[in-house]
Amino acid sequence: MRGGPWPATSTLVNVPTPRMYRTQAIVLSRFELGEADRVLTLLTPQDGKIKVIAKGVRKPTSRIGGSVEPFAELQLQLVRGRTFDVITQATVSQAWLNLRDRLESAATAWYIGELAERAVEERAGAYPVYALLKRAYQLLDDGMAPSRLARWFEFGLADALGMRPEVDRCVECDRVLELDDDFRWVPALGGVLCPRHPGPPAEQTRLSLGALKLLKAYRRLDIEAIAALRVAPEIELETEGALRRFVRHMLERDARSLAFLDEVRAAPWSS
Ligand SMILES: [Zn+2]
Repeated sequence: MRGGPWPATSTLVNVPTPRMYRTQAIVLSRFELGEADRVLTLLTPQDGKIKVIAKGVRKPTSRIGGSVEPFAELQLQLVRGRTFDVITQATVSQAWLNLRDRLESAATAWYIGELAERAVEERAGAYPVYALLKRAYQLLDDGMAPSRLARWFEFGLADALGMRPEVDRCVECDRVLELDDDFRWVPALGGVLCPRHPGPPAEQTRLSLGALKLLKAYRRLDIEAIAALRVAPEIELETEGALRRFVRHMLERDARSLAFLDEVRAAPWSS
Protein backbone atom coordinates (compact mmCIF):
# COMPACT_ATOMS: atom_id res chain seq x y z
CA MET A 1 0.00 0.00 0.00
CA ARG A 2 1.27 3.45 -0.98
CA GLY A 3 0.88 6.71 0.87
CA GLY A 4 1.89 5.46 4.31
CA PRO A 5 3.87 7.73 6.60
CA TRP A 6 7.14 5.88 6.00
CA PRO A 7 9.32 6.27 2.91
CA ALA A 8 9.51 2.95 1.08
CA THR A 9 13.20 3.36 0.41
CA SER A 10 16.27 2.22 2.26
CA THR A 11 16.67 5.56 4.09
CA LEU A 12 15.37 3.93 7.23
CA VAL A 13 18.12 1.34 7.26
CA ASN A 14 20.24 2.06 10.27
CA VAL A 15 23.81 2.61 9.11
CA PRO A 16 26.03 2.09 12.14
CA THR A 17 28.40 4.94 12.93
CA PRO A 18 31.93 3.64 13.27
CA ARG A 19 32.92 3.54 16.92
CA MET A 20 36.46 4.64 16.21
CA TYR A 21 37.46 7.59 14.05
CA ARG A 22 40.43 9.82 13.28
CA THR A 23 40.53 13.58 12.88
CA GLN A 24 42.81 16.58 12.69
CA ALA A 25 42.16 18.91 15.63
CA ILE A 26 43.32 22.07 17.40
CA VAL A 27 42.79 22.31 21.18
CA LEU A 28 40.77 25.46 21.97
CA SER A 29 40.33 25.12 25.71
CA ARG A 30 40.44 22.55 28.47
CA PHE A 31 39.53 21.86 32.06
CA GLU A 32 40.60 19.29 34.61
CA LEU A 33 38.30 16.40 35.43
CA GLY A 34 38.77 14.16 38.46
CA GLU A 35 42.25 13.05 39.49
CA ALA A 36 43.99 12.68 36.17
CA ASP A 37 41.63 13.37 33.27
CA ARG A 38 41.09 16.44 31.18
CA VAL A 39 38.12 17.58 29.08
CA LEU A 40 39.24 19.30 25.90
CA THR A 41 37.27 21.48 23.52
CA LEU A 42 38.60 20.78 20.05
CA LEU A 43 38.16 22.50 16.73
CA THR A 44 37.98 19.96 13.92
CA PRO A 45 37.39 20.51 10.19
CA GLN A 46 34.47 18.13 9.68
CA ASP A 47 32.80 18.03 13.12
CA GLY A 48 33.32 21.66 14.12
CA LYS A 49 33.61 22.01 17.86
CA ILE A 50 33.67 18.83 19.96
CA LYS A 51 34.28 18.12 23.63
CA VAL A 52 36.36 15.04 24.30
CA ILE A 53 38.07 13.34 27.24
CA ALA A 54 41.77 12.69 27.50
CA LYS A 55 41.90 9.98 30.17
CA GLY A 56 44.82 9.75 32.57
CA VAL A 57 46.47 12.59 30.71
CA ARG A 58 47.80 14.32 33.83
CA LYS A 59 49.71 11.24 34.99
CA PRO A 60 53.44 11.41 34.21
CA THR A 61 53.22 8.00 32.53
CA SER A 62 50.53 9.12 30.05
CA ARG A 63 51.44 8.39 26.43
CA ILE A 64 49.31 11.23 25.08
CA GLY A 65 49.79 13.76 27.88
CA GLY A 66 52.48 15.86 26.23
CA SER A 67 50.66 15.98 22.89
CA VAL A 68 47.22 17.32 23.66
CA GLU A 69 48.16 20.95 24.28
CA PRO A 70 46.76 24.16 22.76
CA PHE A 71 48.56 25.91 19.87
CA ALA A 72 49.28 22.69 18.01
CA GLU A 73 47.61 20.76 15.25
CA LEU A 74 47.00 17.19 16.34
CA GLN A 75 46.18 13.96 14.59
CA LEU A 76 43.81 12.14 16.94
CA GLN A 77 42.17 8.77 17.12
CA LEU A 78 38.97 8.75 19.17
CA VAL A 79 36.33 6.30 20.33
CA ARG A 80 32.74 7.49 20.52
CA GLY A 81 31.37 7.65 24.03
CA ARG A 82 27.93 8.29 25.47
CA THR A 83 28.66 11.87 26.57
CA PHE A 84 32.19 12.58 25.42
CA ASP A 85 34.35 10.84 22.86
CA VAL A 86 37.62 9.52 24.27
CA ILE A 87 41.08 10.14 22.81
CA THR A 88 42.94 6.87 22.30
CA GLN A 89 45.92 8.10 20.26
CA ALA A 90 47.47 11.52 19.67
CA THR A 91 50.34 12.74 17.56
CA VAL A 92 51.43 16.31 16.91
CA SER A 93 51.32 17.35 13.23
CA GLN A 94 52.27 21.03 13.75
CA ALA A 95 53.82 22.21 17.00
CA TRP A 96 54.01 26.04 16.52
CA LEU A 97 56.53 26.29 19.35
CA ASN A 98 57.74 29.83 18.53
CA LEU A 99 54.44 31.55 19.16
CA ARG A 100 54.58 30.45 22.82
CA ASP A 101 57.90 32.26 23.34
CA ARG A 102 56.45 35.76 23.07
CA LEU A 103 53.73 36.71 25.52
CA GLU A 104 51.80 38.91 23.09
CA SER A 105 51.78 36.16 20.45
CA ALA A 106 50.59 33.61 23.01
CA ALA A 107 47.88 35.97 24.34
CA THR A 108 46.77 36.65 20.76
CA ALA A 109 46.68 32.90 20.08
CA TRP A 110 44.33 32.47 23.09
CA TYR A 111 42.20 35.37 21.89
CA ILE A 112 41.68 34.11 18.32
CA GLY A 113 41.18 30.55 19.63
CA GLU A 114 38.40 31.86 21.85
CA LEU A 115 36.80 33.71 18.93
CA ALA A 116 36.87 30.47 16.91
CA GLU A 117 35.35 28.58 19.85
CA ARG A 118 32.47 31.04 20.11
CA ALA A 119 31.88 31.22 16.38
CA VAL A 120 31.66 27.50 15.62
CA GLU A 121 28.78 25.16 16.41
CA GLU A 122 29.20 21.75 17.99
CA ARG A 123 29.10 18.84 15.56
CA ALA A 124 28.79 20.97 12.42
CA GLY A 125 31.41 21.23 9.68
CA ALA A 126 33.81 24.13 10.18
CA TYR A 127 36.32 23.87 7.33
CA PRO A 128 36.79 27.63 6.70
CA VAL A 129 37.27 28.50 10.39
CA TYR A 130 39.61 25.56 10.89
CA ALA A 131 41.75 26.61 7.91
CA LEU A 132 41.73 30.24 9.12
CA LEU A 133 42.85 29.36 12.66
CA LYS A 134 45.52 26.98 11.39
CA ARG A 135 46.96 29.65 9.09
CA ALA A 136 46.77 32.27 11.85
CA TYR A 137 48.77 30.09 14.26
CA GLN A 138 51.31 29.37 11.55
CA LEU A 139 51.70 33.12 10.84
CA LEU A 140 52.05 33.95 14.55
CA ASP A 141 54.65 31.22 14.81
CA ASP A 142 56.51 32.76 11.84
CA GLY A 143 56.68 36.08 13.73
CA MET A 144 53.80 38.05 12.19
CA ALA A 145 52.86 41.21 14.18
CA PRO A 146 50.14 39.98 16.60
CA SER A 147 47.86 43.02 16.28
CA ARG A 148 47.75 42.91 12.45
CA LEU A 149 47.24 39.16 12.63
CA ALA A 150 44.35 39.55 15.10
CA ARG A 151 42.57 42.11 12.86
CA TRP A 152 43.10 39.89 9.82
CA PHE A 153 41.62 36.97 11.78
CA GLU A 154 38.60 39.02 12.90
CA PHE A 155 37.91 39.96 9.28
CA GLY A 156 38.40 36.37 8.12
CA LEU A 157 36.08 35.05 10.82
CA ALA A 158 33.37 37.55 9.86
CA ASP A 159 33.80 36.34 6.27
CA ALA A 160 33.54 32.69 7.28
CA LEU A 161 30.30 33.44 9.15
CA GLY A 162 28.87 35.38 6.20
CA MET A 163 29.03 38.65 8.17
CA ARG A 164 31.85 40.50 6.40
CA PRO A 165 31.69 44.21 7.33
CA GLU A 166 30.66 46.60 4.55
CA VAL A 167 33.37 49.22 4.04
CA ASP A 168 32.79 50.32 0.41
CA ARG A 169 29.15 51.37 0.39
CA CYS A 170 26.77 52.91 2.89
CA VAL A 171 24.94 50.12 4.73
CA GLU A 172 21.71 52.09 4.60
CA CYS A 173 21.46 53.63 1.08
CA ASP A 174 24.09 51.57 -0.79
CA ARG A 175 25.82 54.75 -2.02
CA VAL A 176 29.55 54.37 -2.73
CA LEU A 177 31.41 56.13 0.09
CA GLU A 178 33.21 59.28 -1.06
CA LEU A 179 36.51 60.40 0.37
CA ASP A 180 34.96 63.56 1.85
CA ASP A 181 32.13 61.77 3.63
CA ASP A 182 31.63 61.97 7.35
CA PHE A 183 31.86 58.27 8.11
CA ARG A 184 30.23 56.49 10.98
CA TRP A 185 30.83 52.91 12.08
CA VAL A 186 27.68 51.00 13.02
CA PRO A 187 28.35 47.30 13.75
CA ALA A 188 24.65 46.64 14.33
CA LEU A 189 23.99 47.64 10.70
CA GLY A 190 27.01 45.75 9.37
CA GLY A 191 29.51 48.49 8.58
CA VAL A 192 29.84 52.12 7.48
CA LEU A 193 26.99 54.63 7.41
CA CYS A 194 27.04 57.79 5.28
CA PRO A 195 26.06 61.22 6.76
CA ARG A 196 22.58 61.23 5.18
CA HIS A 197 21.12 59.13 7.96
CA PRO A 198 20.77 60.42 11.48
CA GLY A 199 20.87 57.60 14.00
CA PRO A 200 21.02 57.00 17.72
CA PRO A 201 24.45 58.29 18.81
CA ALA A 202 25.00 55.42 21.25
CA GLU A 203 25.20 52.85 18.47
CA GLN A 204 27.60 54.67 16.18
CA THR A 205 31.05 56.14 16.35
CA ARG A 206 32.90 58.42 13.97
CA LEU A 207 35.33 56.68 11.70
CA SER A 208 38.31 58.58 10.30
CA LEU A 209 39.29 58.30 6.65
CA GLY A 210 42.56 56.64 7.71
CA ALA A 211 40.73 53.94 9.64
CA LEU A 212 38.30 53.40 6.75
CA LYS A 213 41.26 52.95 4.39
CA LEU A 214 42.84 50.43 6.74
CA LEU A 215 39.54 48.51 7.04
CA LYS A 216 39.39 48.42 3.22
CA ALA A 217 42.94 47.07 3.17
CA TYR A 218 41.97 44.28 5.58
CA ARG A 219 39.10 43.44 3.32
CA ARG A 220 41.09 43.39 0.07
CA LEU A 221 44.65 42.41 0.84
CA ASP A 222 46.23 39.22 1.98
CA ILE A 223 47.98 39.19 5.34
CA GLU A 224 51.49 39.49 3.88
CA ALA A 225 50.54 42.76 2.15
CA ILE A 226 48.72 43.99 5.27
CA ALA A 227 51.76 43.27 7.43
CA ALA A 228 53.91 45.45 5.16
CA LEU A 229 51.64 48.54 5.45
CA ARG A 230 52.93 51.57 7.35
CA VAL A 231 50.11 52.86 9.53
CA ALA A 232 50.04 55.62 12.17
CA PRO A 233 49.55 54.12 15.66
CA GLU A 234 46.36 56.12 16.32
CA ILE A 235 44.80 54.77 13.11
CA GLU A 236 45.79 51.26 14.10
CA LEU A 237 44.13 51.74 17.52
CA GLU A 238 40.98 53.23 16.01
CA THR A 239 40.68 50.28 13.60
CA GLU A 240 41.22 47.85 16.45
CA GLY A 241 38.42 49.48 18.45
CA ALA A 242 36.09 49.44 15.44
CA LEU A 243 36.71 45.76 14.72
CA ARG A 244 36.39 44.79 18.37
CA ARG A 245 32.98 46.40 18.48
CA PHE A 246 32.08 44.56 15.30
CA VAL A 247 33.21 41.21 16.76
CA ARG A 248 31.31 41.89 20.00
CA HIS A 249 28.19 42.46 17.96
CA MET A 250 28.84 39.38 15.78
CA LEU A 251 29.48 36.99 18.68
CA GLU A 252 27.09 38.82 21.03
CA ARG A 253 29.67 39.48 23.75
CA ASP A 254 33.28 40.34 24.47
CA ALA A 255 35.94 37.66 24.48
CA ARG A 256 37.12 36.74 28.00
CA SER A 257 40.75 36.63 26.86
CA LEU A 258 40.70 40.29 25.71
CA ALA A 259 41.40 41.56 29.24
CA PHE A 260 44.51 39.39 29.46
CA LEU A 261 45.68 40.43 26.00
CA ASP A 262 45.31 44.13 26.89
CA GLU A 263 47.18 43.60 30.15
CA VAL A 264 50.06 41.92 28.33
CA ARG A 265 50.28 44.76 25.82
CA ALA A 266 50.17 47.46 28.50
CA ALA A 267 52.92 45.87 30.59
CA PRO A 268 56.14 47.93 30.60
CA TRP A 269 58.30 44.90 29.76
CA SER A 270 56.11 44.03 26.77
CA SER A 271 57.54 44.96 23.39
ZN1 LIG B 1 23.78 56.29 3.17
